[in-house]
Amino acid sequence: MPEIKWSNLPAAQQPTWPNQDELMKARAELATLPPLVFAGECDQLKLSLGKAALGKAFVLTAGDCAETFKHNTADSIRGRLRTVLQMAVVLTYGSTLPVIKIGRIAGQYFKPRSGDTETIDGQTLPAYRGDAVNDIEFNEDSRTPDPWRLVKAYHASSAALNLVRAFTQGGYADLRQVHSWNQDFVKETATGEKYEKLASDIDRALAFMEACGVDPAEFRTVDFYSSHEALVLDYEQPMTRVDSRTGNLYDVSAHYVWVGERTRQLDGAHVDFASKINNPIGIKVGPTTTAKDIEALLSKLDPDKEPGRLSFIARMGVSKVESVLPILIQASFKNGHIPLWICDPMHGNTQTTPSGHKTRDFNDVVGEVVAFFKVCKNLGKHPGGIHIELTGDDVTECLGGMEELLAADLPTRYETACDPRLNRVQSLELAFRVSEMLKLR
Ligand code: PEP
Ligand code: MN
Repeated sequence: MPEIKWSNLPAAQQPTWPNQDELMKARAELATLPPLVFAGECDQLKLSLGKAALGKAFVLTAGDCAETFKHNTADSIRGRLRTVLQMAVVLTYGSTLPVIKIGRIAGQYFKPRSGDTETIDGQTLPAYRGDAVNDIEFNEDSRTPDPWRLVKAYHASSAALNLVRAFTQGGYADLRQVHSWNQDFVKETATGEKYEKLASDIDRALAFMEACGVDPAEFRTVDFYSSHEALVLDYEQPMTRVDSRTGNLYDVSAHYVWVGERTRQLDGAHVDFASKINNPIGIKVGPTTTAKDIEALLSKLDPDKEPGRLSFIARMGVSKVESVLPILIQASFKNGHIPLWICDPMHGNTQTTPSGHKTRDFNDVVGEVVAFFKVCKNLGKHPGGIHIELTGDDVTECLGGMEELLAADLPTRYETACDPRLNRVQSLELAFRVSEMLKLR
């Protein structure tokens, strides 16, 4: 394969690898490894996202903030997948639209950080940049970036994706089974009865179809796509290949990749990279984004005005949605583009408790989605989806929700390697809340 020529544009948030020879060897090894996804699957996702951009589907992107090698276990993957599937059923019912399921899974091993280093008790070491770069333990050996971790991340992603494919194609994701988990949730959770009506409505709809003899294959299998932030270009570039069918480039490390809030510079290497690949891509946009940025990103990343190619993932913070977002959404439709707008109600709502725990309040998360729906409705645009950080475990990382978690509860089970995630109960409650919003949209 001819070598792809990458730009020398500045790339923010890259690790300082101590040994360039080892980096080159690790990159060369990545370049020989089989693709994790097939370009045709990326095209299929792009088509589906195009439907969402046109108001005919809803996107659920969800998974870990930072996957870790330690938690890349069958139990953990199953727990996350199950939670996302449960949410998707509730959202499908509320929206009466197909829900496109995208996991932050099988590659979310890279983290942007606010500082290049971290200092604890007078010792300064490189910041943790995700398991694909270094280890979270605070000692010199662990924190030194090791390019062979990129290869390890590839293999971990491969194993996770294999299990996801098995679960979603092999019967585990059967709609009736997923619905029965939701019924258990409603029965077993103290305040779950709030959602009993919705769950029993879904039950009646399923019973009706069964009585009619309807049993489509779609009830038994699920299309589930992988995604992560395209952050460390020493991973994404060697994973980018020429598609033999079309001659186009695809980043075959995931179906969908996004560029983060900290790396979306118009003249930076990440946007340039995203412009060269044919995957559907996302761009995170925070409250400092301008209408000009939106227009420039669209002309660079979606020159063909192809619905589904580019999604904007708005992460404004609950208090800024109504003042900032309308201008950006309006600008995005100006020149004939049909972008997809997705709400990330997590990253603009992070706070630190006096005990030093990074957390998010469930009310702020719900509040940001409410404000997003309101802005979309006022502009006559489709609220295209949500992007959530969650785990299937009963962690105590975010405040509130029906279990009313308090700041004092956070240390009980605080396990995240990076940002606070909704636990299983909070995730399902959010799905029921968004489902109600979708019904009324
Ligand atoms: C993330 O999605 O984990 C992340 C770092 O987001 P953002 O780029 O929006 O801060
Ligand atoms: Mn995060």
